[in-house]
Amino acid sequence: MSKIKIAELFYSIQGEGRYMGVPSVFLRTFGCNFTCDGFGMPKGEKSNERNVIAINAETYNNYGDLPLVSTGCDSYASWDPRFKHLSPVLDSSAIADAIVDTLPHKEWADEHLVITGGEPLLGWQRAYPDLLNHPKMAGLREITFETNGTQKLSPEFKDYLMQWQMPDANFDREITFSVSAKLPCSGEKWEDAICPDVVCEYEEVGTAYLKFVIATEQDYADAECAIAAYRSAGFKGHIYLMPVGGVESVYTLNNRRVAELAMKNGLRYSDRLQVPLFKNEWGT
Ligand code: SF4
Repeated sequence: MSKIKIAELFYSIQGEGRYMGVPSVFLRTFGCNFTCDGFGMPKGEKSNERNVIAINAETYNNYGDLPLVSTGCDSYASWDPRFKHLSPVLDSSAIADAIVDTLPHKEWADEHLVITGGEPLLGWQRAYPDLLNHPKMAGLREITFETNGTQKLSPEFKDYLMQWQMPDANFDREITFSVSAKLPCSGEKWEDAICPDVVCEYEEVGTAYLKFVIATEQDYADAECAIAAYRSAGFKGHIYLMPVGGVESVYTLNNRRVAELAMKNGLRYSDRLQVPLFKNEWGT
């Protein structure tokens, strides 16, 4: 039976992108290929909040007690090895049981599954078929992978996802890739983060869209360059601009301005509903 290291598993409302407002189970896998230390920092500087937290990592026993951060990656504990003791390795049967247990009626209705991270398309691709084939997952119709858009799908997993969506007598199924491509403001290198061919391949499997986190005019200029690169590779999906802000004080400085920027340029705006609704606390 396949196993996955699970950082968080919770039921909430999807706060971002295409399924904003939809009741969703979030399965947050452990591990990421990036660190995104540049978010919210002056250009070229790296966040040191993570290091401050890391000093006390051993004193935390669950995600709910972890501090929120206003710079760097707001999901830092889902990949930083200093917090790995908070993330159990569970087999697919235990994960399926835990997922269905979060649903209000203990069976699938209109809820969708968000597989997020960290970066959920790292090696865990091998484990998802076992989980999705579990009898308790049979009523699931829609899955979103929240990815940074750098990980190719293995041929086996690509085939599996296409089969999973084959029309059924009772209902259709749909896979979505919500691609949060990392601009230079994240602190990651362009050549590592902007991978148009990878994202174009996601479109062969399901619906893919791009989501750019914006704080400054420079971020938007970088987004335009990235959009041009994705489009010239053949990417057809929608583009969202989303305000930076893992904490409310930062989010409220940006959200209206980013919404207006999206309108002005004919792009979609994505909110981060989890910030005004739930203060972006862990488990929301
Ligand atoms: S890619 Fe996402 S999860 Fe990974 S470090 Fe960056 S913001 Fe965090």
